[in-house]
Amino acid sequence: MENKTQLSVMGGGLVGCLLSLYLAKQGYPVAVYERRPDLRRADLAGGRSINLALSDRGWRALETIGISEDIKKVAIPMYRRVMHDTQGHLSFQPYGQEGQAIYSVSRGGLNRALLDLAEAEPSISLNFEQQLLEVEVSSNKVSMLDVAANKEYQVQPDVIFAADGAYSMVRLSLQKTDRFNYEQSYLDYGYKELTIPPNADGSWQLEKNALHIWPRGQYMMIALPNIDGSFTCTLFFPFEGDLSFASLKAPEQLREFFQEVFPDAVPLMPDLEQEFFENPTGSLVTVKCLPWRHKGKILLVGDAAHAIVPFYGQGMNAGFEDCTVLRGLLQEHEHDWDTIFKTFQDLRKPNTDAIADLAVYNFIEMRDKVADPRFLLQKKIEAQ
Ligand code: FAD
Repeated sequence: MENKTQLSVMGGGLVGCLLSLYLAKQGYPVAVYERRPDLRRADLAGGRSINLALSDRGWRALETIGISEDIKKVAIPMYRRVMHDTQGHLSFQPYGQEGQAIYSVSRGGLNRALLDLAEAEPSISLNFEQQLLEVEVSSNKVSMLDVAANKEYQVQPDVIFAADGAYSMVRLSLQKTDRFNYEQSYLDYGYKELTIPPNADGSWQLEKNALHIWPRGQYMMIALPNIDGSFTCTLFFPFEGDLSFASLKAPEQLREFFQEVFPDAVPLMPDLEQEFFENPTGSLVTVKCLPWRHKGKILLVGDAAHAIVPFYGQGMNAGFEDCTVLRGLLQEHEHDWDTIFKTFQDLRKPNTDAIADLAVYNFIEMRDKVADPRFLLQKKIEAQ
């Protein structure tokens, strides 16, 4: 049954889209505001494939809206880690019992599928190129910018869900209120996405059903498979220092370095120099804050509430789990937003704090300990 409470979801990324579907299914009209153009009509950034690891928590959330089977058709199961040493020798660690896997999915593909579903839902309106500038927390008045027309206007929804990511403007508005706790920390490492293209026949140049890691102590590279036969590699590397993004300045120097430390990957990366010097270097932030809500009026979800570093592959999965938990609370408490938001925060905050800390720890494990022979032996014993 339709409910007239006006809900707005700020951000039409992965979490914003999924949440808007859950809210619409509960009978609410939902307006989604997204800063960027509709990505179904725009080119992917530089035409690159960017992928994410989707695991159980994420799948459960997708099952609820009935798209897990469709996504599974374009997802690649990764049954194990494959470690590449400096001689090009390989070692393996399974991710679980026989048949268990985490899945590599396209970020753009998943977002597009969710947008298609949202568009098909009559009670959802999708508003692209609409950027939230500020929220007046006391009144829920939101200043928006129509990006194409360069025109400001205001909206005043009954309830605001902030799914506007790690650098949330809604959160920034909440930060200006009394007793709002906020903590952000950056790693000294950045990341750069590079590509291993497919073979001429469209097949994968490395083992397809695996997450590949080149652990090198102070830095590492990983690669996840894409459905088109390519791999997206991510180099996690210090921003500054003797061996860093800042120190690798010339193409010859870069190739020499890669040949020395990633000898089996370099021959598979024909566009290494171009990609390394042209692709942006991303930073890695953890955000913790509290409260996530203002009364029953504003709620932070996904990265806006809890951005984490990617080393557990759980940021999106945790954001999707936010939606699963919210859905349960919506059913239990109906329109009592104050109770829903308070209970949501109490349930989720300890879990997201825990995964935030584990994710930072897992960077050390992935770049360093997975290459340690004693650790490999221990993993073999665990896997038996
Ligand atoms: P976002 O995806 O950031 O979406 C926010 C949306 O809000 C965007 O569409 C943005 O354009 C829009 N927006 C922002 N500001 C405004 C505004 N002012 N007005 C209107 N709209 C706005 N997670 C995993 O689970 N598995 C992985 O393997 C994984 N790998 C990762 C690898 C890297 C290198 C990184 C950086 C992250 C990775 N993550 C992974 C984390 C994952 O990307 C995030 O947790 C996830 O994207 C969060 O979704 P979100 O919808 O909350 O935020």
